Amino acid sequence: MSNIPHEPEFEQAYKELASTLENSTLFQKNPEYRKALQVASIPERVVQFRVVWEDDKGELQVNRGYRVQFNSALGPYKGGLRFHPSVNLSILKFLGFEQIFKNALTGLNMGGGKGGADFDPKGKSDNEIRRFCVAFMTELCKHIGADTDVPAGDIGVSGREVGYMFGQYKKIRNQWEGVLTGKGGSWGGSLIRPEATGYGLVYYVQHMIKYASGGKESFAGKRVAISGSGNVAQYAALKVIELGGTVVSLSDSKGSLVLQGEGSFTPEEIALIAQLKVERKQLSSIANTDAFKNKFKYLEGERPWLHVGKVDVALPSATQNEVSGEEAKGLIAAGCKFIAEGSNMGCTQEAIDIFEAHREANKGGDAIWYAPGKAANAGGVAVSGLEMAQNSARLSWTAEEVDEKLKGIMESCFHNGLETAKEYVTPAEGVLPSLVAGSNIAGFKKVAAAMKEHGDWW
Ligand code: NDP
Repeated sequence: MSNIPHEPEFEQAYKELASTLENSTLFQKNPEYRKALQVASIPERVVQFRVVWEDDKGELQVNRGYRVQFNSALGPYKGGLRFHPSVNLSILKFLGFEQIFKNALTGLNMGGGKGGADFDPKGKSDNEIRRFCVAFMTELCKHIGADTDVPAGDIGVSGREVGYMFGQYKKIRNQWEGVLTGKGGSWGGSLIRPEATGYGLVYYVQHMIKYASGGKESFAGKRVAISGSGNVAQYAALKVIELGGTVVSLSDSKGSLVLQGEGSFTPEEIALIAQLKVERKQLSSIANTDAFKNKFKYLEGERPWLHVGKVDVALPSATQNEVSGEEAKGLIAAGCKFIAEGSNMGCTQEAIDIFEAHREANKGGDAIWYAPGKAANAGGVAVSGLEMAQNSARLSWTAEEVDEKLKGIMESCFHNGLETAKEYVTPAEGVLPSLVAGSNIAGFKKVAAAMKEHGDWW
């Protein structure tokens, strides 16, 4: 990691992974893996390009577009596209790096990549979004393909944007192929793909709850704090409710809605919020309506964590670094026992260190268990992998089939991390195994071994 430009988010993701490998017995058993890490920390390729498009006033607009093709040891590069004004190379490298090991954990043949643009979809008309997507894909299509690199959605990119980009790829390349995932249901998309990250997150946490309680507990009766109100947050909330839990918060980039008193967000309220987000509006625009103002408090500019009262589970599902050290302490004080990231790198390193230090029960409270995004939110890319398989076979599976496969993948993600932690970190008696260490080691080992067989390092 010497002589690299200042890339704070990427350095944070790299250090988080490297420190768990260093603190395990992996490098003692396999010292040569240090070399693999050195090689794997540099992307195979980074594509950067300009995107010039015309706004509704007929004026020229220009943005920066990127695709980080990080690692193709296990399959074609795979990872989402993010459209957000904050997008830069450091953020995309962190996301691409995480994606390599996440994809390995799914057990499917997918490499790791990430891309996007510093384009802000907020305040743009549908026509402007379409023109931007067309301009973006006009360049990106030269670098991707069903067997090369298969992007998907992420923040600011949902089915509508995937549709415009797919259409432009098809026009330029004269090829209908599974080059993007998250496609529409009638033209190659997989059922359950929109739901997959949120549902998968909740399936993963179900296993955490079951293991930690010796099979006695489930989501039933649990109070669950969620941040974000986009794709991941909406479907995580719906699944929690379906399993008998109570959703006490949702948020967006401008503020949080927090339940006051008894009850829960309902599926109807979540549907209203989903519609709001399709219209690219903020939660503040409904906070004062009759339907919401008596039941929820709106906290302008605040994240939910320090305002949710007693909670059992926290699911950060908005963006990176959205749980600080102080908020981690607050969540523990509020009784939270399970923290699982729907977002990528949802917790700061300080927050992770605080959660990880509380894996032992009876130190003045219950054990706290933290699950990193690269394991807990792998359901989205897993169903993207299933979408690729369906496209290659020119088949569509039923929602039930895909959901069953998703459940199986999340179960094996959980057990893979758990068992690997037991093997390489040897937790003391009465301490929950570290899911962050176990997931990092399991994902890394698989990628490093494939890279060695390809002659990428020796
Ligand atoms: P969406 O764009 O659908 O929703 C993002 C949500 O997070 C919105 O509520 C948005 O608020 C909020 N948000 C975005 N940026 C910030 C910020 N800087 N501060 C506070 N809130 C913010 O994205 P997704 O739900 O798809 O993604 C959420 C997270 O999950 C991301 O970290 C993503 O990388 C991760 N993820 C997504 C997967 C997927 O399949 N979609 C797969 C795996 C991980 P607003 O509406 O105001 O913009």
